[in-house]
Amino acid sequence: MTKSSDKAADEKVSCSVCRKEVPLSEAMIPEAEDYVAHFCGLECYTQWKRQSERSKQQGGKTSK
Ligand SMILES: [Zn+2]
Repeated sequence: MTKSSDKAADEKVSCSVCRKEVPLSEAMIPEAEDYVAHFCGLECYTQWKRQSERSKQQGGKTSK
């Protein structure tokens, strides 16, 4: 059991890649992005970044 002295540390966010819930204090938050995304760890962050870079390269002008 962890002591719950800090309420902010109790807050949980779900990983943007695998949807796993992680404490906000342990979540990875990329700073250079326009929107806020949370990741449970470096693995998911790397995966997400790779995907977003790939979609940037491919879909410059996708006709909708
Ligand atoms: Zn994850």
